[in-house]
Amino acid sequence: MEVAMVCTRFSLLILILSLCSPYKFIQSPMDFGPLNLLPTTTTASSDFGRILFHSPAAVLKPQSSRDISLLLSFLSGSSLSKVTVAARGAGHSIHGQAQALDGIVVEMCSLPADIEFYKGGGGEISYADVSGGVMWIDLLEQSLKLGLAPRSWTDYLYLTVGGTLSNAGISGQTFKHGPQISNVLQLEVVTGRGQIVTCSPSKDADLFNAVLGGLGQFGIITRARILLQEAPQKVKWVRAFYDDFSTFTKDQELLVSTPDLVDYVEGFIVLNEQSLHSSSIAFPANVDFNPDFGTKTDPNIYYCIEFAVHDYQQKNTNVEQVVEVISRQMSYMVSQLYSVEVSYFDFLNRVRMEEMSLRSIGLWEVHHPWLNMFVPKAGINDFKDLLMDNISPDSFEGLILIYPLLRDKSEVSWFNRCSVHPSDRWDTNTSVVLPDSGSMDRVMYVVGILRSANPEGGCSHHCLQELLRRHRGIADTAGVQLGAKQYLAHHPTPSGWHQHFGRRWERFAERKTRFDPLGILGPGQGIFPRRD
Ligand code: FAD
Repeated sequence: MEVAMVCTRFSLLILILSLCSPYKFIQSPMDFGPLNLLPTTTTASSDFGRILFHSPAAVLKPQSSRDISLLLSFLSGSSLSKVTVAARGAGHSIHGQAQALDGIVVEMCSLPADIEFYKGGGGEISYADVSGGVMWIDLLEQSLKLGLAPRSWTDYLYLTVGGTLSNAGISGQTFKHGPQISNVLQLEVVTGRGQIVTCSPSKDADLFNAVLGGLGQFGIITRARILLQEAPQKVKWVRAFYDDFSTFTKDQELLVSTPDLVDYVEGFIVLNEQSLHSSSIAFPANVDFNPDFGTKTDPNIYYCIEFAVHDYQQKNTNVEQVVEVISRQMSYMVSQLYSVEVSYFDFLNRVRMEEMSLRSIGLWEVHHPWLNMFVPKAGINDFKDLLMDNISPDSFEGLILIYPLLRDKSEVSWFNRCSVHPSDRWDTNTSVVLPDSGSMDRVMYVVGILRSANPEGGCSHHCLQELLRRHRGIADTAGVQLGAKQYLAHHPTPSGWHQHFGRRWERFAERKTRFDPLGILGPGQGIFPRRD
């Protein structure tokens, strides 16, 4: 054991020296004893965005939390280098957030993917203990075997637990259960100092809160305890179309005001034939909606609300009746309501079908200049106008999601009853950044401009830069004029980050000083410099 430790430290020393060397002699596979440091790979220097490709000097494929701890303890105790470290989950970031230029990328998927379940009975909670590198799809598959499932999701499930908890993790269930970060009971974290800490709302709560939504800045999440609920067997999935934005948002707000009836609410803008077609790939209903999209100079825009009701057959919920009651109160276009029943698994995994379809025509591995924003309710109409001023509906490729979230306490909270966690949907102690709640509106919106830019279809370097410039313009204007905040934020300068955090900056910076004082972690976010 002692020998192994000495070997590891010696190997790390060589690594650090080599990283510092102008000759960078890490060019072939290396075996650094128990720490399996490898030369860089193309995977480690790319992500879903395909905008930045920062190559690390080495990759760590950890077999345990201790491997990560050894690496970070050594780096934080050494004044030799300025090596940085980024945890990489599934690499579905847009702007190189999980990259580490000339540093070390920790491939979280290498950790053993074991999942342990605790199934509570008689009013007790159920939960799963999972590795930070496990993908949500794997947790779903395993938990369904026990009739259980997490409560809060992202639209796409091939993302890691550690990756989404470092942001927030939102989807159509968020209005009801809060984001994924509000559905975690405990974490195991390796801090930037290399300490392995098990933290929760009642133990080392500051680290727990810092890491949730913490953009990988304070520690690496190696395990998470995720709250589970009884899984429904089927889901009634409904779509309704609109030709008026205010009616669309009014109905969305109506739906999120009934969390006892509705289980999922999202919505998207129907800009053109392509957006209608691609968003329908996973929705297996016979949709007979052929609207007139107008002309290039005078386009007609439509909107679609998507909601779902869980069918717990053994509880005799009459899902048809619930949908009937709700839809009677909605004001969609005449006859433009469609519904279909699907398995819970297929519903949650719906984006996978879109992925497969896009992959089959070579449109998955293209540039993705995405922009996601949280917009206060009071500014959502202006935001829509700003957006429309900056896109061409006829040529837009991708999807624009718009749906409401509630920022206040949950009305259907388990947490209250079980006293294990605060009942806020969005806990302000975490690191996540939301618009300031000046107007006291319960509702805020998330808008996702999920654009694809295909180099083979004519959008190469200049076109991509122009799209990025436009998105930055939208983000800046919406920030200043509407108080909107970026989700999955990207700011090219430290002052941009200061502005992003606003009054929360001091706390964020203070937490950094405490948990990662040398600024080793999360270099790809560009928030803090590496210190000696
Ligand atoms: P990575 O991209 O690998 O990492 C993201 C950040 O987290 C990096 O800073 C990284 O260093 C850090 N990190 C990764 N793992 C850890 C860890 N274990 N501990 C500490 N830090 C870590 N998001 C939503 O909220 N809702 C959605 O519906 C949604 N849909 C999406 C659909 C698609 C097709 C894609 C590509 C993305 C979507 N996202 C969505 C965004 C996604 O949640 C984030 O990009 C998330 O970071 C991806 O997880 P990942 O495992 O790929 O993380």
